[in-house]
Amino acid sequence: MYRTHTCGELTISNKGEKVTLSGWVQRSREFGGMTFIDLRDRYGITQLVFNMETDAALCGEARGLGREFVVQVTGTVAERSNKNPKLPTGDIEIIVDTVTVLNTSDIPPFTIEENTDGGDELRMKYRYLDLRRQVVRSNMVLRHRMAQETRRYLDGQGFIEVETPVLIKSTPEGARDFIVPSRLHNGEFYALPQSPQTFKQLLMVAGFDRYFQIVKCFRDEDLRADRQPEFTQIDCEMSFVHQDDVLDTFEGLARHLFQAVRGIGFEGKFPRIPYDEAMSRYGTDKPDIRFGMYITDITKAARGKDFPPFEEAPYVGAICASGCAGWSRKQIDELTEFVRRPQIGAKGLVWARVEEDGTVKSPADKYYSADDLVNLALMTGADAGDLMLMMAGPREKTLNALGELRLEIGRRLGLRDDSVYAPLWVTDFPLLEWDDETGRYYAKHHPFTAPKPEDMKYMESEPWRVHANAYDLVINGTEIGGGSIRIHDSETQSLMFRTLGLTEEEAQQQFGFLLNAFRYGAPPHGGIAFGFDRWTAIMGGSDTIRDFIAFPKNNQARDVMIDTPSTVKKQQLDELGIEIKKSGKGG
Ligand code: ASP
Repeated sequence: MYRTHTCGELTISNKGEKVTLSGWVQRSREFGGMTFIDLRDRYGITQLVFNMETDAALCGEARGLGREFVVQVTGTVAERSNKNPKLPTGDIEIIVDTVTVLNTSDIPPFTIEENTDGGDELRMKYRYLDLRRQVVRSNMVLRHRMAQETRRYLDGQGFIEVETPVLIKSTPEGARDFIVPSRLHNGEFYALPQSPQTFKQLLMVAGFDRYFQIVKCFRDEDLRADRQPEFTQIDCEMSFVHQDDVLDTFEGLARHLFQAVRGIGFEGKFPRIPYDEAMSRYGTDKPDIRFGMYITDITKAARGKDFPPFEEAPYVGAICASGCAGWSRKQIDELTEFVRRPQIGAKGLVWARVEEDGTVKSPADKYYSADDLVNLALMTGADAGDLMLMMAGPREKTLNALGELRLEIGRRLGLRDDSVYAPLWVTDFPLLEWDDETGRYYAKHHPFTAPKPEDMKYMESEPWRVHANAYDLVINGTEIGGGSIRIHDSETQSLMFRTLGLTEEEAQQQFGFLLNAFRYGAPPHGGIAFGFDRWTAIMGGSDTIRDFIAFPKNNQARDVMIDTPSTVKKQQLDELGIEIKKSGKGG
């Protein structure tokens, strides 16, 4: 028997028992004639003690144990004189009788302790050692809990888990596909799924009614912070549902997970905010509603006063930072720099502050009378002691910039408290978005999303007016899931493909299987998918998904542990009928 107990379970109630433990040597220290070793396994740490005076040979052996040696010990549980209240096993230690070295270890490249000296890349390279650290391991345990509770809830709701293939044909989800060359069919390729979208719809045609899958998805996106080329979704689909049925079911999942995993309950329904309102009030389709500070449209009031930055602008908006009238020039300059960063790209901002006596001070007061300024303050809800920040430009761009500014001020004011969770649904997304560069419409969600029936009449004449029954679940300013009610007839689906600029032949070639399926009694259906890594990270109070994936890629999309992507043998390429162009590297 390797062990009678784990390293995380012995307490004072085991005092006097003879036990056998197995684990890794986390560290050892000498103190007078005594040697102490922290023995670690998945469950915790137990202190071992060796006494030079009572057993010099054994103590000598203990001193020879290096970091990360795997050892088995037998001994007696004793009460510690120097207790450690931070450890569940902190009241006891093991007076060791025998030690067996089960395996030795090279000196690890970084210390495997809570506060490690290893940098990011080093820990990624030795990920199996990093996973020994309690912080990283507990993230994986949280992930496991999330997966189990997801299955428990969805199973309870009658969903069945079905696996879908990984070698497929392209699914448009807005990213590039990873492609896999076929050896048996030279010159032909599979694509890895960006999501199981078309398969889950086919399962609805098959009558499965309620499907889910915790599934790997693959998207060959440009490098962006905290994105992974392969990630996991909780992917779901339901038949005979309207939007509200889907939202209610998955609000239930969210409540279940928060309760089961974090012990957090929510009062009342999650707010449901239409896309247009989210954009105009928060400047984003993923609002952080842990705080107010709404955006106000002041275009009408701000124009007509010959103030150059506002006069010609199609849109002028403002936010009010409560209690910030005292912010210094330097602080406001920092905010100006913030909105001018290339990612935000605003020209600048104009401030106005409400003094204690209710008068409003602003550098724009050459153009605006005292009354004008008071009027602007009233519009934005600014009171004595508040700071108004105004920006002008094209509507969408300016709203986005105000949204970013709002988040930044929220952060500076400590309003984005990680221990508070504020979920909401954003609904009624536009069906399409126009891309200037390619001069065509793209599906805002994906091309299988149904137009709202009442907007169908604009599909051909004014497609930009069409909204969809598409929705996102947003928590604390992060989108963690999204879905839609789908098109379920081949005619509307063909119309959609046409609107997206696909010819009849292209549509047939890419999605003939789906259009065909829709000719055999497809039920009305809709669904959603959640970013499982991201949701788990949020539950763990972090915004780094990498920490919640056992073997992640680095921010260059490389796995530095197994060293991939990597070249393959010429013979493998020959079998695939592939030749590498010299200039091919990096596309
Ligand atoms: N397939 C979609 C996605 O991956 C989700 C959905 O519409 O169900 O975002």
